[in-house]
Formats: sequence, C-alpha cells, structure tokens
Amino acid sequence: MSVRVRFAPSPTGPLHMGGVRTALYNYLFAKKHGGQFLLRIEDTDQGRYVPGAEEYIKESLEWCGLVPDESPWSGGPDDPYRQSERKALYKAYADELIAKDKAYYAFDTPEELDAMRGRLQAAGVAAPAYNAVTREHMKNSLTLSADEVKERLARGDQFVVRLKVPRHEEVRFEDLIRGWVVVHSSNIDDKVLFKSDGMPTYHLANIVDDHLMRITHVIRGEEWLPSAPLHVLIYEAFGWERPAFAHLPLILRPDGNGKLSKRDGDRLGFPVFSLDWTDPVSGEKSSGYREKGYFPDAFINMLALLGWNPGGDVEIMDRKQMIAHFDLARVHKGGARFDPEKTKWFNQQYLRMRPDAELGAQLQSKLKQREIVASEERATAAVALLKERATFVDDMLEGAYLFVEGSPLKGNDAAIEELRKRWKPEAAPALEAYITALGALTEGKAPAFEVAFNRVLSDTGLKVGQVMPLYRLFVAGRMQGPGMFDVSALLGREEVIVRLNAGLDLCRSWA
Ligand code: GLU
Repeated sequence: MSVRVRFAPSPTGPLHMGGVRTALYNYLFAKKHGGQFLLRIEDTDQGRYVPGAEEYIKESLEWCGLVPDESPWSGGPDDPYRQSERKALYKAYADELIAKDKAYYAFDTPEELDAMRGRLQAAGVAAPAYNAVTREHMKNSLTLSADEVKERLARGDQFVVRLKVPRHEEVRFEDLIRGWVVVHSSNIDDKVLFKSDGMPTYHLANIVDDHLMRITHVIRGEEWLPSAPLHVLIYEAFGWERPAFAHLPLILRPDGNGKLSKRDGDRLGFPVFSLDWTDPVSGEKSSGYREKGYFPDAFINMLALLGWNPGGDVEIMDRKQMIAHFDLARVHKGGARFDPEKTKWFNQQYLRMRPDAELGAQLQSKLKQREIVASEERATAAVALLKERATFVDDMLEGAYLFVEGSPLKGNDAAIEELRKRWKPEAAPALEAYITALGALTEGKAPAFEVAFNRVLSDTGLKVGQVMPLYRLFVAGRMQGPGMFDVSALLGREEVIVRLNAGLDLCRSWA
C-alpha cells in the first residue's frame, strides 16, 4: 500500500507557521516513503470563507517549495480537491449512515436546543450535550414515528443529521506520536454531520474525503486531537478501515507559556505568517517571513526542527537530508517553543552558504529599487566584504555607499552634516598628498593603500583621527562600515581619487 497523506487547510485566513509545519511534515513523510502528498481545501463552512486565503495558501507552499502532488490547482485522480465542489457527493454518505442506524435526523429548533441546555444546567450538568441520554427527549428520528419523520422531510422542515454515538463504548486508537488514546463514548456528543442546506460539516466531509482519497496517514495539529475519537467512531460507523493518526505538538510562545499567536508576533516583533497578508475586511496588515527577507530554505529548516529531533546535533539540513531522516517516532508530544533569535541564526547560516555572485545579483536589484546604480561585479565584491556581518540581504544595503557610481556625498544629507562638524582646512594638505601618492601606486591591494596613507600621516605630522574620518566620509559616505583600505581596494584607486577630489571641492566651497 503506497503512502498517501494530505494537508487539508480551511481558507479562513493566512497560513500560520504551524500550518506550514503541518504541510512540511506531511510532505517529508510522503517523500520519505515514496508516497503522495495531497492538498485538499476544506471550505464547507461558507461563513468562515475569506477571499484570497486559498491563493495565499498556494503561494506560501510554493514559496516554501512544498508543492503538492495532487491539489485543486494541479488536479489529480481524485478531482475535485475543493470540498465546495464535492458538495453533491456527501449526502449519499449521510443517507448511508442513517440507513445503517448509525446516524439519525434531528429536527430540534435552536430554541428547543437552548431549552434542553438550560434544563440540564439547572440540574447541575456542567457541559450539556446532545448525546445517547438526552437524544431520547428530543425531536429526532429515534423518538418520532416513522410517518412523522417522513412528513417533516416531505414538508421541507429544517433538519440536521447527527451521528448516533454508542452509549457505553471505549473508543481507542494508537496515535503515532502520542501512543494509545482512550476515550469513553459517553464523553462524545452526537455531532452534526450534515445539514438540510445540503452541506456536510467538517467531520463528515473530512472522513469521507480521506476515505475516497485513500489517505493512509492523517498528520495534523494537536488542536484536532479531541476530534479524533469522534472520527474513529465515524470510520467504524461506515465500516471503513481508518488511516493512522499522528497529532503534532503545538508551537509555543518564546516564553513557553501557551500557543503562539499572531498577537505574540506583533508584540515581540516577528512574523507568524509565511507571507505578508492584508485582511480583506479589516484591512489589518500582518508581516510574513518572505517579505522580511528570509530564505525559504532557512525558514523550512527552522520549522522542521520545531517539534522534530533528528538525533545528534544536526541543525542545518537540506531538503534531501530532511527527507532521509524524517521519522514521526522522533516528533515529540510536548509543545515546541518558538525561538525568534534562532530563526535569524538559521537565516544567517543560509546567507553564508549562498554564493557571492547570487547574493550580489540580489543586492544589485534591491539597490536599483532605491535608484542606486551598481555594477553586478561591484555588488558581488561588496557582498564578499559585508556578508559575514549580515543576517539578511537587506543588511548589506546599509553598505550601499560602496556601490554608487560617483561621489557618495551626493544627496547624502547625513554625511554632509557629519562632514560640516568634522571638516578642518588643516587636513586638506594630507588628503592632497594622499591623492598624489595614490596616483603613483603600482599595486591595488588594501596594504598598498595603508602604506601610502601612513606615509602621508608621518610626512604631514597629522593624526589618524584628523584625517581618517574625512577619508571615510569622502569615499564611503558614512562613518560605519568595513575598513577603509579594504573599501578602497574594492573601489580601485581611480574611483578613490575621484571621490577624494569631489569631497575636497565640496568642503572648500564652504570656506
Ligand atoms: N480543515 C481542517 C483544518 O483547517 C483540517 C484538519 C485535519 O487535518 O483533519 O485544519
């Protein structure tokens, strides 16, 4: 039997990183076992549908490189993969359960349901439920005569179909991560499976589709664990073989106190979504890992280890290694604490592994967006210089002064203000002598610039602190950054001479 797993998101908003991790584990498990990874859109609850959410899910998974083998977008042998388009097929399954006496029609109005709850609460029942005991006092096809049921259906009365949960039964299944889960059926209520508007509920549609799509393993978040015993009962009611279950641990806040939410991200300054998202109703914006400058591989590597321990000290893993080592038995039960600093660390590691030329091209296009012209060659050389101190490609933009063609003082108000404070006409002769010395250089490496600079200082009797800041502002356009001799070697002496002259001209015009 070949492994078939699915990721089954509901398009109710942007994909939380927990959702991406669920998709990732399904993907890794499928690839590891040479199986298929399916994606099914669970949109039976039209009231919660959010426009744009499905497109967002698709784009997120593509960005992460988690492209399903079968999905609404690519199609597959079990078309369609969107539950709203499968609507017509669920009714027959609800009917089948009714015919088997595993489900029944219930006609109770909202008022009658409220009254039932009120009565039970008054009698001291903490969590009143529609179940094997209370169903006997309600209006359903178990208490009404067959004729009345027929009449009500013919009349078009509103109804729901409820699962007939057995009264005394132990429901048990072995979760691949949690071990045996045992629940007494008296703790499970007669869940609604189908409604008279023709729509199935999540529970029925989910099980029918997992069955029809021949899903072998259901790998999903811990929040679905409480529903699993009910799902086991539905499989039993149909007489179908059920898939194996694996419920993944929650992703916790950095302090370990509770489930990670969007609010935690906003408060602590990190994204909880893969991509930027604007809520179509409220207009509220949320940031995503992609737009923050994370590499998808770094994001995925971080997520893989959020709940899974591959053993040993291995942290950096490429896709192939993750697939080779993935094992549900090594996924822990306990919540996995999210660490925003570690997430940055992953990005830094991936940045360092990228070839300079690739980062150089990215940097060049980012500069272009800011109307800074730099050759690809120079951008790549700058990457080599700035990469070690960067976590994101954007961090290297800070050093953009290096790549501009011409004087970095042009339009650079911050540098000019700094220069006004530091400019002393006494320093001019040293800079002029340095320009002359550079003209005579026979070699373009950093030490050659250093030797020339030191000679000028000793010849003129000026101190480093009197000349270096001017050199820095003239040539680099800012006070911070890598060493000036490295910068100069990178720019080449002609460019350095042009910049020094432009700086001197500017300062002299103030006198
Ligand atoms: N549609 C459910 C969700 O949004 C799927 C749960 C499951 O995987 O069974 O998470």
